[in-house]
Amino acid sequence: MHKKKSETISWYFGDFGGKFVPETLFEPVNKLEKEYFKMYKSKKFISELRYYYKNYAGRPTPLYYAEKLSQYCGFKIYLKREDLCHTGAHKINNTIGQVMLAKIIGKKRIIAETGAGQHGVATATACALFGLKCVIYMGEEDMVRQEINVYKMKLLGAEVVCVKSGTRTLKDAINECMRDWVSNVKDTFYVIGSVVGPFPYPLMVRNFQSVIGFETRNQILNIEKQLPSYLVACVGGGSNSMGLFSPFFYDKKVNMIGIEAAGKGVNSKHHSASLAKGKITVLHGMKTYVLVDDYGQVQHTHSISAGLDYPAVGPEHSYYKSISRARYVSCDDDGAIFGYDLLSRMEGILPALEPAHAIGYIAKNREKFSSKDVVVICLSGRGDKDVGIIKNYGI
Ligand SMILES: *Cc1c(COP(=O)(O)O)cnc(C)c1O
Repeated sequence: MHKKKSETISWYFGDFGGKFVPETLFEPVNKLEKEYFKMYKSKKFISELRYYYKNYAGRPTPLYYAEKLSQYCGFKIYLKREDLCHTGAHKINNTIGQVMLAKIIGKKRIIAETGAGQHGVATATACALFGLKCVIYMGEEDMVRQEINVYKMKLLGAEVVCVKSGTRTLKDAINECMRDWVSNVKDTFYVIGSVVGPFPYPLMVRNFQSVIGFETRNQILNIEKQLPSYLVACVGGGSNSMGLFSPFFYDKKVNMIGIEAAGKGVNSKHHSASLAKGKITVLHGMKTYVLVDDYGQVQHTHSISAGLDYPAVGPEHSYYKSISRARYVSCDDDGAIFGYDLLSRMEGILPALEPAHAIGYIAKNREKFSSKDVVVICLSGRGDKDVGIIKNYGI
């Protein structure tokens, strides 16, 4: 968490972020900001959050030295095992935090959007835990791609609304969810799944996810007696990466690499690399890099992993890019499959296709690192959900 210099809180990260919402949502978003900053300092809230992280989500997650992968690459690689969190990914860190906040401020109904279904499952899980009603918006195409997650959400007691507008993926689900929020703002809390949306969401989600980076910092100092030379994570909306990166912001010697999904290639029309190929504009309440066409319309994106298939990116990443605090590169579908296969065979860990992009990038670019490097890769989720996709891809 960045130290605040004064009590005034900026809605921006450099030039990025802000609060671009319709008039009807401006008050609710401001109210959420006040409530969040009150809780953020409350000892009771923090200790309750820690309780659930530990006893429910299974934190701290291990920082695992991947010996065979390290030998293969020629430098030390540690995996931050977010795949071992309850529900199988880092998303639960955020949903526990937001749903707890919603309950404390008296909201009765939770809504959320989901792409891969991971955020939907994590939200439905937190709602079951805290006893709140849960409605999940999901694009029709994603519902087909991630059928099992749809069923899991229903088992957890959530209602899943099928979104048939636009490209029938995550961005359309976000639009529908915002529409719901505008009409039901009185009793409804919108749980956003990544470091995106109007302020305070990008900051709030980053703070909930920064437990990843704080744990990593302690763990690596314990094991290696030094900070890592590289932090590496995949970037969809950017929450697992920002969660890992942000506690190291002031450690100048720690390099950060964010991996975007290059799909069928960043020069094809089928990718999700917003930082590499996007333009600065406003989408979903924030000013950031967005993949738009010459008319300013949001482009159809593609990635083999539904979790990275998003046309924008969290504003704090746009800021990190603008000040060169992190470097953003990409890995295509084939590279992700390569990473999936490699980690499965070498370490006995099936990674989600999202972090498989990070594994694939590092393995393919291993010549660029030195034998003294210590690299931490955020293994944001487990790969069970993607076995069907891998099977169809034909390894
Ligand atoms: C959702 C998801 C992502 C992408 O989201 P970020 O906000 O960029 O972290 C990455 N990995 C997994 C396993 C996911 O479920």
